[in-house]
Amino acid sequence: MKLHMQILIALGLGIKRNWHIFSGIILGIFVGVFLHGHELPVVSTILTFLGQVFIRLIQMVVIPLVVSAIIIGVTSVGDNRQLGKFGSKMILYYGIITAAAVAIGAALALIFQPGLGAAHYIAQNSATEVQTAVATAVEQQQGNILNIFLGFIPSNPMHSFAAGDMVPIIVFVLLFAIALAKVGDVNRPIVSFFESVFAATMKITDWIMFFAAPGVFALTASAVSSFGIDIFASISKYLFVLFLGFMLQLCVVYPLFLRFFSKVNIIMLYSAVAEALMVAFGTASSSATLPLTVACCEKRGISHKISSFVLPLGATLNMDGTALLQTVAVIFLAQAYGVALTPFLIVEICLLAMIASSTCAGIPGAGLITIALILNGMGLSPEQLVAGFAFLFTIERITDMMRTLVNVASDAVVVAAIADNENEINYDLLNNPAAYEDIA
Ligand code: ASP
Repeated sequence: MKLHMQILIALGLGIKRNWHIFSGIILGIFVGVFLHGHELPVVSTILTFLGQVFIRLIQMVVIPLVVSAIIIGVTSVGDNRQLGKFGSKMILYYGIITAAAVAIGAALALIFQPGLGAAHYIAQNSATEVQTAVATAVEQQQGNILNIFLGFIPSNPMHSFAAGDMVPIIVFVLLFAIALAKVGDVNRPIVSFFESVFAATMKITDWIMFFAAPGVFALTASAVSSFGIDIFASISKYLFVLFLGFMLQLCVVYPLFLRFFSKVNIIMLYSAVAEALMVAFGTASSSATLPLTVACCEKRGISHKISSFVLPLGATLNMDGTALLQTVAVIFLAQAYGVALTPFLIVEICLLAMIASSTCAGIPGAGLITIALILNGMGLSPEQLVAGFAFLFTIERITDMMRTLVNVASDAVVVAAIADNENEINYDLLNNPAAYEDIA
């Protein structure tokens, strides 16, 4: 059979679900490009509806999953010292990966200078209605860093649960889980309760995955149809720098990191978490992708003990793709508006991007809002600030899809490295994609 026929058959009929999702993304891009030039409001409404159905379904299981996974993970580790060891290793690994991301972002933005001469595109492409919305968002972010950290401590956990605020939820659940681990056997009823919650949540995730290919198709098509292809041409250098930065993270930094800190093969790891990476791209939300990231890791060789503790924290705290984008975006605006980029300012931008990215939620667009933390000290006028922001928003979705994929890939890289260090990987399974169980 001809090669192209084999490829088409593999895409369309391949038994593996990841091929279905991949074909959903490719088809979504074509349909999105077609729709951009044609007024078909009914089709757009249906696509938006289908995409939202998929996102809501997976968001629905995130909170029960995070709560049950952390409680099971922490109580199964039990010993506080070991927990402290995992925790500090996790923060160290996230720190290394995020530092690499901001260094790459800053180096590329300084080499390619995407912002030079961009001030007039910014003025042309930052619509007034977006500016108003952005001005409000920026204002809300203007609290100082201490206030942001204060917001991580939930004065009323139920309120955080109802609002879906992941960081305060995780702070509360972590404390609760550590306390449960401390109280000994009396914790059994609660732990078994959450073991059942976790198992049921994973089952629902399996069912939702039947809807992944059409869901990701619809999300990609409606995202692509809303960008102007014309705007791409004018900011191609900015997008090129971002794309190159993301590729360097995925193809150079992570393989080197894994080689240095573990025996994990990056290709095997990527194939193990392929569905999660594609859903991250489609949904632009690492929190919503979390149930899938957990399912892929656990079904393909990474122990429950490690993944149930590390992945929920990673999906909220580890945002290296976001940090890379924030660094490039801030340097882009500084170049556009002629702010002198001294070495001191560049280091400050990089450090603030590391902090700002880890304070942002794993939901679409959050990373762009927390950029305000970095931009505040840059000496831009309020008008420049708002116009610059509004401009970044016009090309937000595509960059969000890319950086979320990177965020989720690095969560998988760190969990695999920690599991390797703790002898908690089944390499016979991880290195044998033919034996992978489908999610669903
Ligand atoms: N959408 C990203 C994520 O969920 C966060 C961001 O906006 O950068 O990982």
